[in-house]
Amino acid sequence: MPGFEIFGDEERKEVNEVLDTGVLFRYGFEGPRKERRKAKEFETLLSDILSRGAKGQVYTHLCSSGTAALVTALSACGIGAGDEVIVPPFTFIATIEAVLQAGAVPVFAEIDETLCLSPESAKNLITEKTRCILPVHMCGAMAKIKEISAICETHNLVLIEDACQAIGGSVDGIPLGTFGKMGCFSFDAVKTITCGEGGGVVSRNKDLYLLADAFSDHGHDHIGTDRGAEGHAILGTNYRISELNAAVGLAQLRKLGRILETQRRNKAFFKNGLGDLSGIRFRKIPDPDGDSATFFTFFLQDEKSAREASQALSRAKVDGCFYWFDNNWHYIRKWDHLKNLRTAGKLPLDLIEGISSNLQKPLPESDAIMARAVSMLIKLSWTEKDMEERLLRMREVLK
Ligand SMILES: *Cc1c(COP(=O)(O)O)cnc(C)c1O
Repeated sequence: MPGFEIFGDEERKEVNEVLDTGVLFRYGFEGPRKERRKAKEFETLLSDILSRGAKGQVYTHLCSSGTAALVTALSACGIGAGDEVIVPPFTFIATIEAVLQAGAVPVFAEIDETLCLSPESAKNLITEKTRCILPVHMCGAMAKIKEISAICETHNLVLIEDACQAIGGSVDGIPLGTFGKMGCFSFDAVKTITCGEGGGVVSRNKDLYLLADAFSDHGHDHIGTDRGAEGHAILGTNYRISELNAAVGLAQLRKLGRILETQRRNKAFFKNGLGDLSGIRFRKIPDPDGDSATFFTFFLQDEKSAREASQALSRAKVDGCFYWFDNNWHYIRKWDHLKNLRTAGKLPLDLIEGISSNLQKPLPESDAIMARAVSMLIKLSWTEKDMEERLLRMREVLK
């Protein structure tokens, strides 16, 4: 999964080109930058890749993180104070933080055996305050995005995709992140493509892209090359990416095809090698061909056997396995800080009566699924021998 496994001369060359000019800022400095625009190049390349799959122009704007991309997307789509946003309870907490940051109210729907938002459950939670559905393509594979998209269409809701963990994934060949009004990617230190810290917001809608572009740089409209003379139609904030980060990301993005190929091959090895075991079932993946294959997830029969398997895998030195049900970053069960709305400052949501009890609402279907799920990170650097030995150890535990 993590792109840092394959850092090489390509990343070094791009970074050095930036250091040579001394221009770390993505805007302005037209003389000294010697035509080097790593952020712009990264955006153009990602737009090209996505546009090819989406069979239509997709625009990309890079941000300082995936979290920043999510806040930017929500803001550009006009989602804010008091609007309800339907989210899944299995995600990195950043998704929820972004909703709160935008001033909106997260409303948790159940997940299903895709490990992503259940379309049915999301539909049942729509109220007159609902403005947006924000599914997360979790662990490299897709939510039932066509069904969720149809619900948004029927109910006139904004669809924003958190594709932070799923760059390179697709449904029917259409890239994840391009189904919604906006899609978000993360390039943080442990993602498929990493640039240290970075993110991207994408859209087929040019106006939304331009809003995102302005919002994440204090409202600068980026028209012309004289930064001092630019217009500021809106207030924004600073979610800019630096040229140094973008340089690393650019080299990494050029390796995306190779990364996906390796991940898919490695994941298939374990799926094939464990397919005959009666004690486990695989995660449901709506379009297996579009799985970016960063994780291999399987279900045990019940919570007890999942917990035991997870501990036994760890004892057998099968590293990189996650029992998310007990994890306090990725599943709501342990998000006490969220349930009590504890933050450093004061959330506007403190004003909304009943929100905390709403956040404490039980999610029995999600609990039942997460309690049985174990995921294994798919690495790029495994040799064939590593994988064969790993498979034997896994079979010993899971048989
Ligand atoms: C990583 C991640 C984010 C946030 O990305 P950062 O770049 O770390 O801010 C958001 N959502 C999901 C699902 C993620 O995995």
